[in-house]
Amino acid sequence: MSERETVLVTGGAGFVGSHFARIAADAGRDVVVLDNLSGGPPARLPSSIPLIVGDVGDRELVTRILRERRVGAVAHFAGKIQVGESVQDPDTYFDVNLVRTLELLRAVRDQGVTACLFSSTAAVYGTPERVPISETARREPINPYGATKLSVELALAAWSAAYGLRWSALRYFNASGAHPDGTLRENHEPETHLIPLALDAGLGVTAPLRVFGSDYDTPDGTCVRDYIHVVDLASAHLAALTRLELGHTLGPLNLGTGAGFSVRQVIDAAEAVLGRPVPHSMSPRRAGDPPSLVADPSAALTALGWRPQRSDLVTIVEDALRSRTTTRGAAAHSA
Ligand code: UDP
Repeated sequence: MSERETVLVTGGAGFVGSHFARIAADAGRDVVVLDNLSGGPPARLPSSIPLIVGDVGDRELVTRILRERRVGAVAHFAGKIQVGESVQDPDTYFDVNLVRTLELLRAVRDQGVTACLFSSTAAVYGTPERVPISETARREPINPYGATKLSVELALAAWSAAYGLRWSALRYFNASGAHPDGTLRENHEPETHLIPLALDAGLGVTAPLRVFGSDYDTPDGTCVRDYIHVVDLASAHLAALTRLELGHTLGPLNLGTGAGFSVRQVIDAAEAVLGRPVPHSMSPRRAGDPPSLVADPSAALTALGWRPQRSDLVTIVEDALRSRTTTRGAAAHSA
């Protein structure tokens, strides 16, 4: 594809998708967002980025967008993302994340789109045998969320072999932070992620944080995760897109920093940034949570020529806090 062709960003009104849409547009890309607005209040994207409200499973609509907007690449972020909910309601997860994605991939094939970036997850590994985790580690999801993401990765590999699609599945560890200008925030409904919940508890706008499990086999007994700033995720996608356009296929790549932090360490960082305590209590483990997920990001560093720039924990928490205090309650889409 030529760089002048449009990038379709599905789920571009959501947390990671909106950051990618913004950064791609800032880099001069022609971007169009498709989002069904089911993931909570839409991000406030710049008005220069068109938003089409619709579903990735609507093949007629997607086909029309691909054709009329001269789409050369798809960045597919749309999907359901909560581990616990996926255990309760696998039907919805397989439908939204797999069945509807197959409709999108059929349209991609039929319209001759050559490149696809896919928003995948460390949950494809399940409970890893060792950390840090490399892309060649056994993929054995322990929840339906991870199973649906792995299924799509397998479909992409098959699409590539049969139809020549170039693809990359970017396996996020813990997406966090927010755009430093404070205009885009993590805004899931309901919010289930640790950093926004810890900040909101510390700000006194929500109930005390519940720490899910303090009896894990980790240094302080709480779960360990690899937190990566959403702006770093977005820049990795842009680097991946450029390489796909140059004719490479990248396959799966871990996007993390290689450093793990426990829930307690995240609470400590939130307290340091807020300058006040984060009220919290110990709760039972949450279903589907592995004790420790830390990336070996070396393949992504090499393949993308990319380095995380904002992913130290304090910067992540500071940016998340700025976005929560500047955009609270202001979630209307302005496109
Ligand atoms: N967590 C917690 N309390 C909460 C939300 C999350 O203790 O209210 C823990 C969760 O068990 C996990 C870590 O924080 O170990 C990160 O969870 P999050 O939902 O942010 O991301 P996930 O790892 O599920 O992608």
